[in-house]
Amino acid sequence: MRWSSTRPRTGVWSTCNKTNSRTLDAVLACAFIVSSASAIFSFSASAEEKQLSIYSSATSYSVSVKPHDGQDYVALLELLQRLGPVTAKADGSRWKLRFKNSEAQFENGKTRVRIRGRDVNLPMSFVLDNGRGLVPVSALSILLPELLGKPITLHEPSGRLFLDNTAVHFTAQMNNAAPAGLVINFSSPVNPMIATEPGKLRMVFQHEAVVAPGSEILTFGNKLIPSATYSATNGAAEIAVSAAVPLFASFSNGGRTITISPAPQASPTAQSVAPAAATPSGQPQTAGNTITNSNLPVHYFVVLDPSHGGSERGAALSDDLGEKTATLNFALRMRQEFETHGLSTLLVRNGDETLTLDQRSGIANRAHPAIYVCIHASSEGTGIRLYTALVPAAGESHGLFIDWNSAQAASIDTSQSAATNLAAEFSKRRIPTRSLVAPLRPLNNITSAAVAIEVAPFTGGVSDLSSSGYQQQIAESVVAGILEVRAKLVAKP
Ligand SMILES: [Zn+2]
Repeated sequence: MRWSSTRPRTGVWSTCNKTNSRTLDAVLACAFIVSSASAIFSFSASAEEKQLSIYSSATSYSVSVKPHDGQDYVALLELLQRLGPVTAKADGSRWKLRFKNSEAQFENGKTRVRIRGRDVNLPMSFVLDNGRGLVPVSALSILLPELLGKPITLHEPSGRLFLDNTAVHFTAQMNNAAPAGLVINFSSPVNPMIATEPGKLRMVFQHEAVVAPGSEILTFGNKLIPSATYSATNGAAEIAVSAAVPLFASFSNGGRTITISPAPQASPTAQSVAPAAATPSGQPQTAGNTITNSNLPVHYFVVLDPSHGGSERGAALSDDLGEKTATLNFALRMRQEFETHGLSTLLVRNGDETLTLDQRSGIANRAHPAIYVCIHASSEGTGIRLYTALVPAAGESHGLFIDWNSAQAASIDTSQSAATNLAAEFSKRRIPTRSLVAPLRPLNNITSAAVAIEVAPFTGGVSDLSSSGYQQQIAESVVAGILEVRAKLVAKP
């Protein structure tokens, strides 16, 4: 699933996006988790692994928490590795640890530990498991100050350990002046994972030590966005904003400000990009890094883009299933479903062709569709990841040309409406769905409404991706969600 992303003008991705071209995998790594490969989201459909997040001034990371005799344990060596030079040696039932200049001796099944020449008692016994020294999480507030030589703060219920003054504070205030929205200011830049579901927008902070405001429930006296709650659990903090309408988040102030606003409804004007600038041939042209802005009639209702193809195989989903094959199969199924509903459909490729991202967006933009749908497939996770582009609020205009990387800006409202409808359709079919906003190519380069769908297996493993039943469910959801957008477009004057 190699996607490229573009760097947004706004700040939040800047910590991850050092270049203009990143793979989706890299973006996901930034957006989701910096230091741990495990799934951490409290709203994840799959069973989550218990973990402890550690925040120091230099780094933040997570280690997994293992149950032992009904208590939570962590591997001490793993926990200390990111903080300084550390070695450990098992000798029979004893385990000797050296961290910087401190030495500690543990014994399997014993609570007594010798640290820097003196005895300390742990609340629960030390466990030596296949040469790995495990200590109870509750003992860290005793062990770590001795080993690190400084005080620490352990918040056991939320699985978070603060080693320095790393707390990130925030305030949230309703801004009633246009553009109206909930403005959340943070004391340092943040990069949360954002997910939306009906009535809620959740921001999950795993690698920032976001701490509770004065009250964990915030109310704003606003009908559209009445309240937000703060919670922290399993090594992550979460701010959940409740709303009567679909919401979206935008970032500014170098990642220190997140503004949550009602997602604009689809409107017919979002479809036609002003000003009219058709080229003499009547076709828009792709030229270098810019595209012409034009008002040509819609030739196709939908453009489907099965990602990868030809020499670019995409992810190896299994030994004999390449991503390029899976994406084409989903696209063909969707085309059939669109055409059943009388909607014209263009496939960016319907064979095994190699295409660049610029070629893909060029094909899509020339077709002037109502919507463009990019399809990826993944063997990891379950269900659907649904992406819309993260673009500046208004595209920069250079005369007849609009900036290639913000081509999507004029249509982003329609894209978000479409994504909301798609998510609702997937949910109806009980397919787990996460909605995400990311600065991804080629979404940013599409002049019409544009969404990207990454399909992971349902519950039955990778073979689901080749199952015609599952393909059909996905295709029906996509078509039903997009028909809803069309209904909105038609209903408006
Ligand atoms: Zn892909």
